[in-house]
Amino acid sequence: MNRSIALLALASANLALPAHVHAAGQPLLIENVTVLSAEQAQPRGNQYVLVRDGRIAAVSDSAIAAPDARKLDGSGKFLTPGLMDGHVHVSNAIGLPFGSSDPAIATMEQQFFAQQPRSYLYFGVTQVVDLINMPQGFAQFTAQPRHPDAWRCGVAPVVDGYPLVFMDKATRYQVFNDYIFEPKNAREHPLPAGANPAEHTPEAVVERIAKSGALCVKITLEDGFGDLNSWPVMSVETLRRLRAATTQHGLLLMVHANALDMQRIAVEGNVDVIVHGVWNWNELQNQPGVPAAIATHLRNVHDKKIGYQATLRVIPGVTDMLDPNLLEDPVYAKVVPPAILKWYHTDDAQWFKREIFGSNPNSAAILEGRRQADANWATSEHGMRALRYLYELGQPLLLGSDTPSAPTYGNQPGYDTFKEMRAMAQAGIPLSAIFAAGTINNARQFKLDKDYGTIEKGKIANLLLLEANPLASVEAWSRIDTVILHGEPIARETLAADAK
Ligand SMILES: [Zn+2]
Repeated sequence: MNRSIALLALASANLALPAHVHAAGQPLLIENVTVLSAEQAQPRGNQYVLVRDGRIAAVSDSAIAAPDARKLDGSGKFLTPGLMDGHVHVSNAIGLPFGSSDPAIATMEQQFFAQQPRSYLYFGVTQVVDLINMPQGFAQFTAQPRHPDAWRCGVAPVVDGYPLVFMDKATRYQVFNDYIFEPKNAREHPLPAGANPAEHTPEAVVERIAKSGALCVKITLEDGFGDLNSWPVMSVETLRRLRAATTQHGLLLMVHANALDMQRIAVEGNVDVIVHGVWNWNELQNQPGVPAAIATHLRNVHDKKIGYQATLRVIPGVTDMLDPNLLEDPVYAKVVPPAILKWYHTDDAQWFKREIFGSNPNSAAILEGRRQADANWATSEHGMRALRYLYELGQPLLLGSDTPSAPTYGNQPGYDTFKEMRAMAQAGIPLSAIFAAGTINNARQFKLDKDYGTIEKGKIANLLLLEANPLASVEAWSRIDTVILHGEPIARETLAADAK
């Protein structure tokens, strides 16, 4: 596509997670609320939920006596688990240029990193998984006073493969030191000079990533964007070794793939999660409905119980930059710091738009660029059809927004998680399945359901008090009264970027 998208993927970190339970404080009693939780067939009205030491201590349909507790009136409101977004990238100050020495840009970066976790919380996202993290960015995220609980993957690209293909040859292996040597590519893509072969086998790399405290290993099956197909990818044989090693270490195996041929390799390799929808249908690109080969592939995904993140917002997040009213959307003022929002309006801020769509933002080149983008990336329309098909097979859907999928200010933290849910609804996915995707299904997929995903005794009290029923309208996910983080109630508007 272009070099900037790949620059998102700069490093694998070696950071331990901060302790999850950190907000003991005063107990909290939520009174007379309607509870929505995926293990129940129906919402339950007039419930009382007691939180102690950051965890749910009791859920009852009669009043609970807790004189020491802070009370929250849930009358007329809906209590849900906090949302989990299983595909984010927190290390990028969205839309700001890379490697700038301008102090004004540096100031905006700081403002971005201070607001980013608050923007996720503003949209009820209380858990995130960072799929390609840079040590500094991930540390900045978890160092903020209030942030979603966060996990990360270690990244294991093959020699010369995506995203290394875009990066500076002299430094890329310092950034991505957990790279894997692919014997099948040995002639054209040999191990870099001086590297020790024993350190770049699937087994050695997975062992290092496991020791770093990561939750998952992420690889990329990407032979090129659009019509490109020349980048080296991992063979099925190597993928099987990687699969065995991740299983041995209890790590999830997450795979970037969005083209049919690449996703087929992922299925053959029995990966845990494919982290993009199948929207590049290769030679089937212009066919209506769900072509037989796509349907067969999706049945294989389902039969093998492979997780599937549709990431419907990837392409609209880029093409939305062409919308002249995008930055006037009042929600932008809630999730983007004021100085950055002002800067997004400047000519300098259009660098990525120009890179993708052409030099003059108002020219015919833009329209041509958009037409090509639609053709090459096949729009989210394919992804929506595939998602709907998978849903009808009975696949437990996952919520993953891929925020930001590129350095586009068309993706914003939290807001894009919400827009991903809205896009799922537009694809014809029922609201109950969207609810499950963002709560219990993600918790189960990442093996975190002991602590997250439902409103049950013993679970971490990351909860949302909503003003509307999310089983009646997807817009309810943007009508949040209070975000409860480890038992601490936070009025939504205090998390806004324009909060006074
Ligand atoms: Zn991503």
